[in-house]
Amino acid sequence: MSKAYNKIIFATGNAGKMKEIRMILADMGLEIYSMKEAGITVEVEENGATYEENALIKARAIAATLEAAGAVVLADDSGLEVDYLNCEPGIYSARYMGEDTPYSVKNANLIERLTGVEDEKRTARFVCAIAAVLPGGEELTTRDCIEGQIGYEEKGSNGFGYDPIFYVPEFDKTTAELTEEEKNKVSHRGKALRLMKEELKKYESTDC
Ligand code: IMP
Repeated sequence: MSKAYNKIIFATGNAGKMKEIRMILADMGLEIYSMKEAGITVEVEENGATYEENALIKARAIAATLEAAGAVVLADDSGLEVDYLNCEPGIYSARYMGEDTPYSVKNANLIERLTGVEDEKRTARFVCAIAAVLPGGEELTTRDCIEGQIGYEEKGSNGFGYDPIFYVPEFDKTTAELTEEEKNKVSHRGKALRLMKEELKKYESTDC
């Protein structure tokens, strides 16, 4: 059994992700901090071979800097897998065509690479792994995804990254056309985080 925890530190500098995380974990009654709020700065090289490994690399690096006990460190890693492109860009999604290349260019490139490919073969998914390092050193990972298709043009201005080209048949919209609340309910990250919440509950403190 792990040592007690009363706070969560999430390994991200992304304000959008933090908002989503706070909404999903709100009912756990824990203090939730971003790395910045916790005063942590660490540079990590995401050189894992899987989403889980990369998420664990981030979570471990932060856990190693913690002096006070009682915090669970969470980290995520995610990506877009396009079936026709042998699951590219996958774990390299952020680095695809260069980290600083605008997503309008990356998205146009993916659409270009699917020229002439019919709807049924344009299947794709966003995948997310969440890793946790608990105060007692236990490590947990969860993973989930959202299935969709690569569109023929960018649509919508919500979200980020590949959202404008990720069409979700269930909504007849891209994830960039969904509201934040709609996306959180069905997104890879939202679902993986809810799975992690259930896992963490099993480790809730039994101080007695
Ligand atoms: P990371 O997990 O923050 O490293 O994200 C990896 C990359 O995957 C992002 O930079 C995006 O390119 C892509 N990605 C992950 N999740 C999403 C999403 O919800 N919408 C759009 N792109 C995403």
